[in-house]
Amino acid sequence: MKTRAKHYCFLLMLICVMSIWGCSSKKELSFEAAYAIDADLNPEMRCMTYMETIEVINTGSGSTEKLYFHIYANKFKGLRQVEDGDIAVLSAQDQNGNVLQWQREQDGVLYCVKLAQRLKPGQSMKLTFACEVLIPDLESMYGISRDGDVQLPMFSLQLAMCDENGWDTAPLPKNGDGRYGAAADYDLIIRVPEAYVLACNGDELSRKTDGGITTYTYRAEKRRDIIVFACKDYVLLERTAGNTEILGYFNETVDGVTRQRMEYVMDCAAFSLEYFNNIFVEYPYDTLVVTNSALGTNFSPNMEYSGLITILFVSPQISMKTNTFHEVAHQWFYSLVGNDENQEPWLDEGFSEFAVGLCLDAEGNTDDFPFWELKDIAGNGAEGEKVNVPCDEASNYQWVIYDRGAMFLKTLMDAVGQEKFLSVLSDYCQKYRYGVATTESFLEILHEGTETDISNVVAEFIN
Ligand SMILES: [Zn+2]
Repeated sequence: MKTRAKHYCFLLMLICVMSIWGCSSKKELSFEAAYAIDADLNPEMRCMTYMETIEVINTGSGSTEKLYFHIYANKFKGLRQVEDGDIAVLSAQDQNGNVLQWQREQDGVLYCVKLAQRLKPGQSMKLTFACEVLIPDLESMYGISRDGDVQLPMFSLQLAMCDENGWDTAPLPKNGDGRYGAAADYDLIIRVPEAYVLACNGDELSRKTDGGITTYTYRAEKRRDIIVFACKDYVLLERTAGNTEILGYFNETVDGVTRQRMEYVMDCAAFSLEYFNNIFVEYPYDTLVVTNSALGTNFSPNMEYSGLITILFVSPQISMKTNTFHEVAHQWFYSLVGNDENQEPWLDEGFSEFAVGLCLDAEGNTDDFPFWELKDIAGNGAEGEKVNVPCDEASNYQWVIYDRGAMFLKTLMDAVGQEKFLSVLSDYCQKYRYGVATTESFLEILHEGTETDISNVVAEFIN
């Protein structure tokens, strides 16, 4: 009996130690979310209303009485700091009908929602928000153009990230995009006057017109955002790359958009998607939407979202090519492999810029356009600076994050050999697909994948 009691004691202790170990290895606060949005878009009235239901699952070991959400579009309204054009939350309630209180912070980019009861480990909760979008003039990435084209990127509430540093409530940076989100599933039903055609990053499940209104149903799986564009005059083009259909939605009435240039951009998108499929990891989505920026001026940037890119057509042809390669590369370094774009922007911008150089090399036209030389010269403008710094800490955002970031990866590739380095990048994409990577996680995979001593290169570029 005695020995048996001892035995039980030992077992009990073991179970205690194991459960403490289990708790500490699980993050205290960690969540997953899924989104369902039901929207009415009326470009003529310059407004959209939507109901958004967000299912939040607590996958951590702690409980919480509040949740944070981002509406990134409220940052995209352009340089104007005016109230109109904000996406506003009108009401919020949980699945039990409890009306919830919320606090609007950072000009509507961040919302803190107080829950009626704590969300405990393993529990899930559905929150429904009623929202209104007063669509401002398009001055950059979000709004309505002179011709009535609508661009609504990232208009919905998105659960903020909660990592080992807690909730991501940091103000968005002045430079760069500053997004930080998990891959999640989105269901979108959206009604629009039938004169409009929609472009969306989700897969179109159905389209029905009744009484002058067309209802579109989309599903976007494992994306970091949801985007809707609307236009009356889209010219539609198509390409296939791997298992992906590249869908071109272009508006010829916008400056710079010609048939020849649309075809050119589609060819660049197909070439780069196919090439990145081969060297990184297969692009998993059925579609990639390529569209023109509805504003034909330099205020409207080339931009990447999860499964949709916008290209500015008033650029010189070579820039349209490198910009298309860059935005397609973001489908791996932003969309598939996520990162904190505020704290470590080089992980998406530096990597995508580096991928442009790879793609140009693969195309074999390097004599016409000395990409690496130009990157090197630009990167030298930030000589000695570390690339893994937050957006607003880089002395020159473009030189440090894009150019020097790309040159760091090129220097590593030259040191370890192209084949080996591409296999490291492929491992990195596989391991962090649908997840979030950091500089540390990249370096870990790099060190695992190579025997070459790269400590000097790393020390030169990395903090
Ligand atoms: Zn970029």
